[in-house]
Amino acid sequence: MATSIGSVKGSSQELRSRFGEDARQRRAAANILDPSEVRGDYDAGRMMETTLGGEARPITNEDLAAFRQNARTAGRRFKGGITVRQVVDLSLSKDRKRARTEIPSAVPASSRQVKGGALETRFMTSSSPQSKHARHQVIVEFVDFEGLVANGSLSPRKAARELARGSIRFDCTCEHHRYRRRYIATIGRYNAGRPETGYPKITNPDLSGVACKHVLRVMSEIEGGSAVQMFLARAIEKARGGGTAVQRTSQKSADRQAQKQDSRPMAANAQETGDRDFDRSRRALRKAAKAASATTTQPKRTAKGSRAAAALGGNAGARDKLLAAARDLGISPDQAAKLLAAAAKDQS
Ligand SMILES: [Zn+2]
Repeated sequence: MATSIGSVKGSSQELRSRFGEDARQRRAAANILDPSEVRGDYDAGRMMETTLGGEARPITNEDLAAFRQNARTAGRRFKGGITVRQVVDLSLSKDRKRARTEIPSAVPASSRQVKGGALETRFMTSSSPQSKHARHQVIVEFVDFEGLVANGSLSPRKAARELARGSIRFDCTCEHHRYRRRYIATIGRYNAGRPETGYPKITNPDLSGVACKHVLRVMSEIEGGSAVQMFLARAIEKARGGGTAVQRTSQKSADRQAQKQDSRPMAANAQETGDRDFDRSRRALRKAAKAASATTTQPKRTAKGSRAAAALGGNAGARDKLLAAARDLGISPDQAAKLLAAAAKDQS
């Protein structure tokens, strides 16, 4: 499938107009369940409905209590921000599958530093065949940018890798994100665009998932694509050189990247594992956990693992990933640290 990623020139204007239209429609919408209503200040005369439990019906007091509980849970889950790996790990399997099979490419189009010091990067993604839009755009803010620009002990490449593993915020132009995920992003405090305070009572009353297929497609490029790593390294280099982190990808480069991604046997691989992105890190850990449990020299391994954990100490994203994976697999954090450190060494 030879899809075009579209024109880079004009894409930022396109983004402004899409988000502008989104905000206009939001202001005009009458059927929004706002935070004070969720807290209990709800007038039953509003006759709003929810699909909580499966079918559309009028909202009750019990529903409001359930909404409050769901919002509390989501707020707690995302305390401290979110990382690229967490976006993938916490996403729904069906969304990851859509990302792999329906969105062939995701290319960084531009970057700039925003208020607060984060690096805002704009990605263009292809849209799915059934979409009314030719493409979508995903905004990712890399929160640790300023600190990594200042940290001269890391080369731009290494700093870029740290940047990609740290905290992010994001937003997408698609309806899925708008109606189902932006509210969760807002209470989780990882929304990069306008906040959404209206509870998704019809579209996502359970507050499930974190990311749409476009965002997930972008996450996989951030984690595994060398072009994105180079793009981030260049932003760091530019900012360190006393300039700004502003850059724009040329049309030629964008086309080349999209074509290269298109020709990857992505869907084929995905079918084989069922869920490639999600399985990748766990597969390696599972294998090593088995090998580790077959031997009995526990103390020495633990000491080594502690050193590996200490080496990862400066990277909150890696630490989170490690603890989550260890819990998941029933192995010790030390063992997981050792494995991740070895994997990181392989990559450098
Ligand atoms: Zn989207």
